[in-house]
Amino acid sequence: MRADELAANLAAVRRRIEVACESAGRDPGEVSLVVVTKFFPASDVRLLADLGVTDVGENRHQEAEAKAAECADLGLRWHFIGGLQSNKAAAVASYADVVESLDRAKLVGPLSRGAQARTDATGVAAGVDVLLQVSLDPPGTGHRSGAAPAELDPLAQRVEESETLRLRGLMAVAPLGEDPAAAFARLAAIREDFVREHPRATVLSAGMSGDLEAAVAHGATHVRVGSAVLGPRPAVQ
Ligand SMILES: *Cc1c(COP(=O)(O)O)cnc(C)c1O
Repeated sequence: MRADELAANLAAVRRRIEVACESAGRDPGEVSLVVVTKFFPASDVRLLADLGVTDVGENRHQEAEAKAAECADLGLRWHFIGGLQSNKAAAVASYADVVESLDRAKLVGPLSRGAQARTDATGVAAGVDVLLQVSLDPPGTGHRSGAAPAELDPLAQRVEESETLRLRGLMAVAPLGEDPAAAFARLAAIREDFVREHPRATVLSAGMSGDLEAAVAHGATHVRVGSAVLGPRPAVQ
């Protein structure tokens, strides 16, 4: 049964996080699991919530919007982890509790407006948590997703000016074809500088199914795990 499969995979991933924390001398309570449910149906999200998952990640706006609506009764925290288009950013901020992929100043306005529309049960503006996505690609590489490290400070300032966005920290993906430990070591140094300027922005979202141990060793507070929990995704993305 799907529920048993998800339960077993989830237990194995939680165990991996614990072991990684032990090796790094960290408290496992410091590392949160975000289960990436992209390409999988809302029924899986429901099973995951039953298994104690509190945070889910999605990377495509339309799919995320539909699933968040279908699962609105579950009280989950929705993380948007995909590339953001400026014409979709306001809509994303209307259902995502955490936007992890803010990588350019142009997105701050629409995200703020989208977040403005959200209110909690008492009608108070609820706001949206934001992580800045930093690129770990070597400089000069053609397409990068994520801001260059030097762009983080001005971007953070723009977020801090917004009344509805809360700057929480950084997100990164290890580049393909490089040892993730080397990439996450660079990330740890970038984060150290960043937190010095923005002492409350302590979240570090890094590590996926294949490299969560390396990310935990380099200070990740959130790991985003998809296939190790849900199984392989369809090949076309
Ligand atoms: C899909 C995705 C993940 C999860 O990847 P897995 O290898 O399936 O664990 C994590 N982060 C981002 C940004 C993703 O797009």
